[in-house]
Amino acid sequence: MMAKMNIVESPVLAAPQGVSIEFRNIEHVYEGAKSKAPTLSDINFTAKPGEFVALLGPSGCGKSTLLTIAAGLVRPSRGEVLIDGVKVDKPVTELGFVFQEATLLEWRSAIRNILLQAEARQLDKAEALKRAKALMIQTGIAGFEDAYPNQLSGGMRQRVSICRALLHNPPMLFMDEPFGALDAMTREQMMLDTQQIWMEGRKTVLFVTHDIPEALMLADRIVVLGARPGRILKIHEVKCPRPRQIEDLARPELQAIQQDVRELLRASGAFSRTEQ
Ligand code: ADP
Ligand code: MG
Repeated sequence: MMAKMNIVESPVLAAPQGVSIEFRNIEHVYEGAKSKAPTLSDINFTAKPGEFVALLGPSGCGKSTLLTIAAGLVRPSRGEVLIDGVKVDKPVTELGFVFQEATLLEWRSAIRNILLQAEARQLDKAEALKRAKALMIQTGIAGFEDAYPNQLSGGMRQRVSICRALLHNPPMLFMDEPFGALDAMTREQMMLDTQQIWMEGRKTVLFVTHDIPEALMLADRIVVLGARPGRILKIHEVKCPRPRQIEDLARPELQAIQQDVRELLRASGAFSRTEQ
């Protein structure tokens, strides 16, 4: 039994099956971009239903662009994305999106920030409230319903945004460097909690990060991306039983992946530009 997380056995949180997300020959060039190299090139992979896929690569390699393409917010220059076999040609609604910044409305309480999702989608109010409360328990922020964002720590704010992303019970969740702005200890706890949430829901997750341990802790597969053009260098499968603990990172097979990913990124020039 996991400690920290409150496991909620609530039908309110029953999750739909995840969906498959297929990237087929994606290439993308931003109009008017200075560099002639495409932002993304030759992106081919499929996230299986319920799979946790990490997209790992240096800053600027096109990770966020790839998520916005998958979400139907940016149309790729070439290729297509298929969700459960259906081509994405408009913004995808059956999706939860978590960004690096919690993007909460400061004048709304935590629970009313979560309920924004229900208002935008015109969901049944009573049902949405029930679900919001259950999600707050599941993510460990019960009791903070009426707190305002400026009364919450960074980790708690991010938990609120995760609840908001899950309120409508989407079959897939995109997370774009969701722990990037958090301190190391909070990040560790968020990793463990995200793992728990995923284990309970089995949504298809695309998780963008440039942190190798984060990808190893969470992902079934790690898609390693290189920059200029943003392309897939390798796809690693992480074979380590769940729930994973931080100590699992010391396992030889995970150490080997870490080593390999570092070398791949170094060879692709990821470390040649100084990143603060
Ligand atoms: P990452 O998320 O991996 O850091 P991004 O997808 O944000 O990378 O960006 C990839 C590249 O595309 C960068 O060089 C960035 O400057 C460029 N880019 C991102 N968004 C736009 C845009 N809207 N217009 C033009 N260029 C963009
Ligand atoms: Mg990004």
